[in-house]
Amino acid sequence: MTRRPGFPARSALSPAPAAAKERPGAGAPRQPMPGPVAPVQGVGLDSGAVRARMVSRLAAQGIADPRVLAALGSVERHRFVDTALVNQAYEDTSLPIGLAQTISKPSVVARMVELLLAGLPGGKLGRVLEIGTGCGYQAAVLAQVATEVYSIERLRGLHEKAQANLRPLRLPNVHLLFGDGMVGFAKGAPYAGIIAAAGGEAVPRTWLDQLAIGGRIVAPTVMPGGQQALVVLEKGEREVRQSVLETVHFVPLKSGIA
Ligand code: SAH
Repeated sequence: MTRRPGFPARSALSPAPAAAKERPGAGAPRQPMPGPVAPVQGVGLDSGAVRARMVSRLAAQGIADPRVLAALGSVERHRFVDTALVNQAYEDTSLPIGLAQTISKPSVVARMVELLLAGLPGGKLGRVLEIGTGCGYQAAVLAQVATEVYSIERLRGLHEKAQANLRPLRLPNVHLLFGDGMVGFAKGAPYAGIIAAAGGEAVPRTWLDQLAIGGRIVAPTVMPGGQQALVVLEKGEREVRQSVLETVHFVPLKSGIA
């Protein structure tokens, strides 16, 4: 009972007997299980209970924003990873998504989205720009907490993969773009938030220019010592406030398209 997560919508949708039936097997995600969740069709065992446990763990780790917990509880992460990795979709681990890139761990996605929302006590954020669509998972999460999501990817193969992954979810507020995110996306500006899924040497000036006053940038950035840290920039009327937070490990931010 105490492990019950804080997103009633999903729990209410999962019939109690199905959730109870799933519990024994799904409680040990590292053991190979015969077909734990159907990767694309969404048939078979209910993945809601496994996701609910992931959300409980995130809450126990300190993610407190109910909007973030609800978003991670509702997006089916297993739809975004290869069939062979479906068993690990709800573990707190980053996973390969092809072309030498990775989908971030759920705890890192949750932390970054929470930081992005931190200036807004409730409701939805306005337009958000994501740099590095990858497989599209974080874009789907952002779609739950922001009115519009512009997500840009520099690798055509991943841009197309994200399109295929997101199509069945029919998220009308997600706009996938193929291009170099170092220059942002001026047509969608100004943004209430900008979130980068790849780490650069510095936060590009263009991102700050495309950020609304009162907006926030959350971006992994390489520090003088060579390690990456999460950096939050808050744009005020006259000044930009920078906070350097914990160490992270993201794929590099690269310029140009491929
Ligand atoms: N948010 C993604 C994580 C993808 S990994 C997800 O949920 O799956 C980071 C991605 O950033 C990679 O796909 C990489 O190709 C992309 N990337 C790196 N530099 C970029 C740039 N300048 N513009 C756009 N995408 C970039």
